[in-house]
Amino acid sequence: MSEHQGSLIVISGASGVGKSTVIAEVLKNRKDIYFSVSWTTRQARVGELNGVNYHFTDRAEFEEMIRRDEFLEYAEYVGNYYGTSKKIVEEKLSQGQDVLLDIEVQGAAKVKENCSYAILVFIIPPSFEELERRLRARKTDNEKKIEERLQRSREEYQEISHYDYIVINNQVEMAAKEIEAILTAERCRVSKRINITKGV
Ligand code: 5GP
Repeated sequence: MSEHQGSLIVISGASGVGKSTVIAEVLKNRKDIYFSVSWTTRQARVGELNGVNYHFTDRAEFEEMIRRDEFLEYAEYVGNYYGTSKKIVEEKLSQGQDVLLDIEVQGAAKVKENCSYAILVFIIPPSFEELERRLRARKTDNEKKIEERLQRSREEYQEISHYDYIVINNQVEMAAKEIEAILTAERCRVSKRINITKGV
């Protein structure tokens, strides 16, 4: 690990909890954070841009990337692959930049395994009923996919005890502020600031 290693912040949370909106708010306020754009085999939703929201690809190319060991982690989620580029994350961290990942729980566990210093944050909705309401209001998935996403969310809740922080997304600005507070606390760690005290 480089002396100027940035923080690696992993954000997980149920599908439909508003993670992307909260993350967009954090990135708006903290321009120095690098958001890792994942690779996925899922279809782009209306309004999503290739290279901005995801790098959209097909299963053959994704599997080729797995074979070439290009992912820091990857997982299959509701029928599609999702993965994080190892090279880009390592590059940014070694340049001292903080990196933020938006990934599901299996991926988060793999990241923690490979990078024990990673900080895991789980975003929850005010209630599970609210989550169901938000998923339906989004109108991006059919009933079967909504059910699958809800079921997956229930399973993901069982993994929360492995996380370092819980953020409640009742209101986007407040949730973003909580994540920013976590980022600030990370930067104040002795291990990150010990150099300042040298020579005293
Ligand atoms: P969505 O299809 O709603 O954009 O994402 C579905 C799930 O995949 C979300 O929980 C999201 O956090 C997760 N996800 C997005 N990118 C990655 C990734 O690179 N790796 C893993 N493991 N999960 C990801």
